[in-house]
Amino acid sequence: HRTVDPYADESERAAEAVLRPASLAEFNGQPRVSDQLGLVLAAARQRDAVADHVLLSGPPGLGKTTLAMIIAAEMSAPLRISSGPAIQHAGDLAAILSGLSEGEVLFLDEIHRMSRPAEELLYLAMEDFRVDVVVGKGPGATAIPIDIPRFTLVGATTRAGLLPGPLRDRFGFTAQLDFYDHTALRDILLRSAQTLGVDVVPDAAAEIARRSRGTPRITNRLLRRVRDFAQVRADGRVTLRLAQEALELFEVDHLGLDRLDRGVLEAVCRRFAGGPVGLSTLAISVGEEPETVEEVAEPFLVRQGLLMRTPRGRVATPAAWSHLGLTAPRGAPG
Ligand code: ATP
Repeated sequence: HRTVDPYADESERAAEAVLRPASLAEFNGQPRVSDQLGLVLAAARQRDAVADHVLLSGPPGLGKTTLAMIIAAEMSAPLRISSGPAIQHAGDLAAILSGLSEGEVLFLDEIHRMSRPAEELLYLAMEDFRVDVVVGKGPGATAIPIDIPRFTLVGATTRAGLLPGPLRDRFGFTAQLDFYDHTALRDILLRSAQTLGVDVVPDAAAEIARRSRGTPRITNRLLRRVRDFAQVRADGRVTLRLAQEALELFEVDHLGLDRLDRGVLEAVCRRFAGGPVGLSTLAISVGEEPETVEEVAEPFLVRQGLLMRTPRGRVATPAAWSHLGLTAPRGAPG
């Protein structure tokens, strides 16, 4: 597992649970989303109505699950959690929907990965609060409409564009989560540190935030590793110097690049004179699968302006050379 992985496994999710903000007022760093969502929910409360369905889109680790929990809390409604991949058959979804209570919030993570028949069942449920249960088989089969409680669907997806239009259109409100800026991540880190009872000086908090790739999940994970280091190698207090040492040990550099990211950049610069180099050649030279290089390392390198994907291959930018402390040869691309 990478220290800078934007995804979390089950055991990490347990560690994350204690750090989740419980209300919109405590959910920092996405002011536009907080404002818009706050308004939608307040209006529904005033009308004593069930809130409109909400679609949350954005990269992993930015707070979609947290927001789903906050929506339920703000509406004083119970929350039911499931995910697209967990719903194989339309019947699975029909069972979940008919088991909801009035006003309940249903969170469906990775909603773009739901099966087609389940998706079609969901259209009707979202629009008319009804499901059609098919009884019998073959020509004699009949669909029996069943009313279900009014509910709020909160769907999460990494990209809204992955959803079929008809599904996307049935959400009353779409919140697009963006990567967080350093200041927001610093504040999130200070709040997490307080919850965990870790003493972090402001400079150190800012440094860890800068290395967190715009992602609160990574901020919280780096905090846990720095805390380990402070506890074992020092007196528990996180100073700037200590944070830097800890992150050096875990190979997370000052831009948040880890060993894989740096390996990719070094290969492009040192072995291929800055590129262009094809994906498969590059992957072989760093000893990884092409998919790993393309899906795990490259998005962040491209976003940071360190790497370009061109039709002829990968090219290091001037920022990549300088980040590695290298001088680009005369005539290097980028
Ligand atoms: P995934 O798509 O992988 O499920 P996610 O987008 O649902 O990720 P969350 O599980 O909600 O992400 O958040 C990951 C971690 O980041 C949690 O520990 C959560 O508390 C923290 N976090 C996310 N957003 C915020 C925020 N705005 N303020 C404070 N903490 C946050």
